[in-house]
Amino acid sequence: MTSTTPTSRATVYGYPRQGADRELKKAIEAYWKGRIDADALLAAARELRLRNLAELRDAGVDDIPSNHFSLYDHVLDTAVLLGAVPERHRGAATKLDRYFAMARGTADAPPLEMTKWFDTNYHYLVPELGPDTRFSLDASKPLEEFAEAREQGVTTRPVLVGPVTFLLLAKDPTATAGFRPLDLLDRIVPLYVDLLWQLHEAGADWVQLDEPALVTDQPADVLAEVAGTYATLAAATARPKILVASYFDRLGDALPVLAKSPVEGLALDFTNNAAANLGDLARVGGILDKRLVAGVVNGRNIWAADLTAALSTLGTLLGLADSVDVAASCSLLHVPYDVTLETGLDPEIAGWLSFARQKLAEIVTLRRGLTEDRSAIEDTLRVNAERLASRAASPIVKVPAVRERVAAVTDADLRRVSPYGKRRQAQQARLHLPELPTTTIGSFPQTAELRKARAALRAGNLDQSAYTEAMRAEVRAVIAEQERIGLDVLVHGEPERNDMVQYFGERLTGFLATEHGWVQSYGTRYVRPPLIAGDVARPEPMTVEWATYAQSLTGKPVKGMLTGPVTMLAWSFVRDDQPEGDTARQVALALRDEVVDLEAAGIPVIQVDEPALRETLPLRTADRAAYLDWAVASFRLSTAGVRDDTQIHTHMCYAEFGDVLQAIVDMDADVISLEAARSNMAIVADLARAGYPNEAGPGVWDIHSPRVPSVEEIAGHLRTAAAAFPAERLWVNPDCGLKTRGYPEVRATLANLVEATLRARA
Ligand code: GLN
Ligand code: ZN
Repeated sequence: MTSTTPTSRATVYGYPRQGADRELKKAIEAYWKGRIDADALLAAARELRLRNLAELRDAGVDDIPSNHFSLYDHVLDTAVLLGAVPERHRGAATKLDRYFAMARGTADAPPLEMTKWFDTNYHYLVPELGPDTRFSLDASKPLEEFAEAREQGVTTRPVLVGPVTFLLLAKDPTATAGFRPLDLLDRIVPLYVDLLWQLHEAGADWVQLDEPALVTDQPADVLAEVAGTYATLAAATARPKILVASYFDRLGDALPVLAKSPVEGLALDFTNNAAANLGDLARVGGILDKRLVAGVVNGRNIWAADLTAALSTLGTLLGLADSVDVAASCSLLHVPYDVTLETGLDPEIAGWLSFARQKLAEIVTLRRGLTEDRSAIEDTLRVNAERLASRAASPIVKVPAVRERVAAVTDADLRRVSPYGKRRQAQQARLHLPELPTTTIGSFPQTAELRKARAALRAGNLDQSAYTEAMRAEVRAVIAEQERIGLDVLVHGEPERNDMVQYFGERLTGFLATEHGWVQSYGTRYVRPPLIAGDVARPEPMTVEWATYAQSLTGKPVKGMLTGPVTMLAWSFVRDDQPEGDTARQVALALRDEVVDLEAAGIPVIQVDEPALRETLPLRTADRAAYLDWAVASFRLSTAGVRDDTQIHTHMCYAEFGDVLQAIVDMDADVISLEAARSNMAIVADLARAGYPNEAGPGVWDIHSPRVPSVEEIAGHLRTAAAAFPAERLWVNPDCGLKTRGYPEVRATLANLVEATLRARA
């Protein structure tokens, strides 16, 4: 090795699992339905792994990972690896059925809880670990997948969730006082030592232990545990070299701890928020005894990398480590598979994009840029520069009219005409709502007929006007249902919406849709997030016809229904060429036009949903205030253009929101509806404690289950709520939209909800 031609390898931490045509989803669902047997499922999975392996190798990836594949989720795989199987799932007939029982539950054993993987839209299964949990190692999956690749002549680097992250992500279902899952480190570290030995025996040179939990704020005692854990693992006598991987944000205080630890390699993210890793690494004097894996290609967004800028970052890093490898910032499972499948996209725009396959090429190009003569990649760099220039200069990316409008926004645009007290009077005078008004969150059941109509429209078997008429018929039915049930503020039911973000994305300029851009959300569920490619504007009204049609059918107030700016961004791939707050303002102005148009059309109540507000919170506490600033401002900008007597609602669906309580107050919606039933209305006391001054509808029905709560149960929730919060500012509603529920339970529950409210009023 000479200093002018460093050794450097191209690598990734993971690759889309589903296959080009979502073959994995299809095989797993066929297995669940009994259409194929376990052998056929495992054969299909193996086939996909081999195809991915060949693809990585053919793309020129030098250091190929294994064990990143999963039939459902990699955290679940880790729980199974360590034998952390809840008692209720142990009865399953086979290992495979036990695995799916943990993932999906069975008739008598509910599944593990599911939650978001850091700040991504991927969901993992939460391991259940109590003080009595006993572990036992089952290394078959990593060993078999390692051996399978070895047979193809590839010595892979097995990827595992690291012990600290595994425990930090776990939950104690027994909620034993004084116990934290992290207390179990002493019990699982020996299993990792054993696993390292087995992988070493099998021929692995390197193993990757993922510790993304270290990019969140961790107290000194946890960092001390990190130091101890990696000292123990490194002291194991026969083991592969250890690469500790971090991603999604900067390592912060964990960086000096890992830099000092005796592991052989660190993987750091150098994109977005994590760019601070560069300065932090220099500050600790580099990791001159270690391999650095540099995540310089964004693994969770879809834009082509700026290769020249990445090369310059890599150049700086060369002086800070023993060797520098090139990688994506995180597993590529968070991006779609292949841009070249998007034949419907304008080729110029397609050139701006980079999905998983294209990212492999970027990583390999950068590696060549480090190890070969620069001339070897000159052509690629030139094409890359041209594409970046075409994007920067594109009239769809920068629209002067949108920019002028955003620049002209003043603080006054973020404020309603009058404070809440005065608005309340105006709204009461207009709406004449009873005490404890009843409403729903927006959607009504997505019936089989609705889905059939949508499929027929897509297949060309139903024309647009017939489709619209089918949706109008549904609106009529939904309004009639609500009148019969006796609700106070009605909704049109959202039958025309495929998805609450996609629907608006299709109607706003600046947003683009993909045909094959599937990304795993959880298990076999994949979503196709829109891309925000350019400045956002609303060419014409998006919902006004639906809302006014619904309003024409009833004398009761109908609530217009929109998706808020933060949620529009959170569930899309966002542009990387301007701060997210700027994009949010553009979306907010587009929504503001819609809100004002709804008001002008006579819609007296308008709800702007922000279910993603909390999940989008930055991982590092220090970054949260700036985020909440733009999040709140964009919500206010979208809603503040209306008169005092137009009532603005918002909705969020999570039951713990301590971190965003002040933001909720600052949003200044007239009414907020929140998930509350499962946590026994605990949220109401939080609102009262925060001095929340406006109206609130804590959900009285947990819509995640088909169970029909009784009148008595709902009345109990109402009493709990009214004991903690002024009853004159309480609303009565379910936890969330009803689109996943069936009509029988919706009718029964809403009738009980109205009955419980009537009793409470009396
Ligand atoms: N209005 C939406 C609905 O009812 C809200 C969905 C959500 O909160 N995720 O479906
Ligand atoms: Zn919700």
